[in-house]
Amino acid sequence: MKKVLILEDELNIRSFVVINLKRAGYDVVEAGTGQEALDQLQEHPEIGVAILDIMLPDMDGFEVCRRIRATNKQMGVIMLTARTQEMDKITGLMTGADDYVTKPFSPAELTARIDALFRRLGAETPAPIMEVFAQGPFVLNTRNHTLEKNGSRIKLTQVEYAIVKLFMQHPGKPLAREDILAAVWGSEYEGDLKIVDVNIRRLRVKLEDDANKPVYIATVWGFGYKWGA
Ligand code: CA
Repeated sequence: MKKVLILEDELNIRSFVVINLKRAGYDVVEAGTGQEALDQLQEHPEIGVAILDIMLPDMDGFEVCRRIRATNKQMGVIMLTARTQEMDKITGLMTGADDYVTKPFSPAELTARIDALFRRLGAETPAPIMEVFAQGPFVLNTRNHTLEKNGSRIKLTQVEYAIVKLFMQHPGKPLAREDILAAVWGSEYEGDLKIVDVNIRRLRVKLEDDANKPVYIATVWGFGYKWGA
């Protein structure tokens, strides 16, 4: 369920908001002071939208917004402004609020604003990023887990794929065998370092024009390997 925080010290306004948001299908978390709001946000990281009153007993709503934004750029923030003063809106913008609702407001108006922010949040939910590494003759597609050389697919095992990906993330950087082992097999792995060499040898057969004269996977003597595509 979509979760909303309402920060408002005036109990009658807060109750009015809570009742209407619950009726609109939201899960509602309440706070009466700025500190309480910040505590609630820590306790409920799934809150998607926060509605912040400005005049509060301990700190103003702008300060609450500023502190939210210091760690959270994603959350939707709506300021409740008592007046229609432009200053409030400008200050709110400076502190990172997304929207404003001026008191007195109708429940429909508030839920419309909240819905809009949730829609925006939904749109921003990161689609799986397709990362493609193109280096030299190689194209690595991290979504499909495929590697091509000059447009031809090269079949890799999971481990080989993980090694190539590691290389392509660190082109030109000498990687210690221990680091390759830890990155690909996990730091808990207690097997022999030679497994790295075995896989590198197999990779060279698959990737190099001549596995005996490796160009792309260079040996760094006494240390490890370096990707040079
Ligand atoms: Ca107030």
